[in-house]
Amino acid sequence: MKKATLLFLILIIGGSVSAQFRETQNVIIVTLDGSRWQEIYRGADSSLINSKYTKDKEEVRENFWAETVEERRKLLMPFMWSTMVRGGQLYGNRDIGNKSEVANKAGSSYPGYNEIFTGAPDWKIMGNAPINNTNKSVLEYINKQPGFENEVVVFASWELFPYIFNVKQSGLKVNAGYTDVAETDANGHIKYLNELQHTIPHPIGETRVDTMTYELGKAYLKQYKPRIMYFAFDETDEMGHRGNYQSYLNKLRQQDGFIKELWLYIQTDSTYRNKTTLIITCDHGRGDASPWAWTEHSILIKNSIQTWMAVIGPDTPAEGEMGTSTTIYQKQIAQTIAKLLGFDFKANTKRAIGDPIESITRKDVIVNVAKKQ
Ligand SMILES: [Zn+2]
Repeated sequence: MKKATLLFLILIIGGSVSAQFRETQNVIIVTLDGSRWQEIYRGADSSLINSKYTKDKEEVRENFWAETVEERRKLLMPFMWSTMVRGGQLYGNRDIGNKSEVANKAGSSYPGYNEIFTGAPDWKIMGNAPINNTNKSVLEYINKQPGFENEVVVFASWELFPYIFNVKQSGLKVNAGYTDVAETDANGHIKYLNELQHTIPHPIGETRVDTMTYELGKAYLKQYKPRIMYFAFDETDEMGHRGNYQSYLNKLRQQDGFIKELWLYIQTDSTYRNKTTLIITCDHGRGDASPWAWTEHSILIKNSIQTWMAVIGPDTPAEGEMGTSTTIYQKQIAQTIAKLLGFDFKANTKRAIGDPIESITRKDVIVNVAKKQ
């Protein structure tokens, strides 16, 4: 290699030139409320299957049990342990020393979502009271950037999301709880789903069942092709609180299927294919399996701050399960999303926003060098 070439490469790696080679133009975020890293990385837990939290033990063993951790987790989340691990990055397997956490101490939902999307914990937000968030989210910020106006959409099961994203102030499109898609030009399928969601059973009160959130969101995605879409699912947390381990596992598998279908759509649609990053994570962890703590999560329940994250996209090197002894925080996600799209959210706020997770956005540098050689 000539000296001049080497110098050029160093300049590219060190400088901002690499930004122009970033491939991400769209971002899809999915959260599985209160889903534990333990199940993601270890599969179904035998002590919980053998406890009072599992009614039909035989059926659960048949569906989710295998001898090795590798087999078990793939049984539970087949998409996570095929496409995601082959083509993306998985964070938070504490069994191999890789950690993912919330930086807030609350260990509950509103504080978790606030941290993920506004980029920093807020000590004033410790519970789930329906109070409008005064912190600006990265979604609100992106929604105001040229080319992204009205291109940012949230579909959530939990009815509190309009508060978390402070829709009155932010003007973000947030479809949460049993809310209809309001667009007058919505297609017949969306209009049908609008009606259907009011006639189906509502087993978790005001919180919309995830299947409806998913189906409505997917239909919206297909018709309107937003550039940023966030799916917030809820039922994993709900089943945890109910102490129903079988349903908790069923929901994890179901949501893994939703994500698989989404990714398949993304990678076959010309708007999204090879220019969309998918981020999957959670808002908090739960207690350990024994003897009862897994059903709950809070500031008082140990390990509630433990999370996990999976990412796949054109700017993210396919490193699979991350084995580095590092800790990433949910507060880093906002700036990571911004960076993937070429924006700097941090520069627009006085709050102590988390730095981007460099390993996720690294490929622009690598690809850049390869292209320039
Ligand atoms: Zn909860």
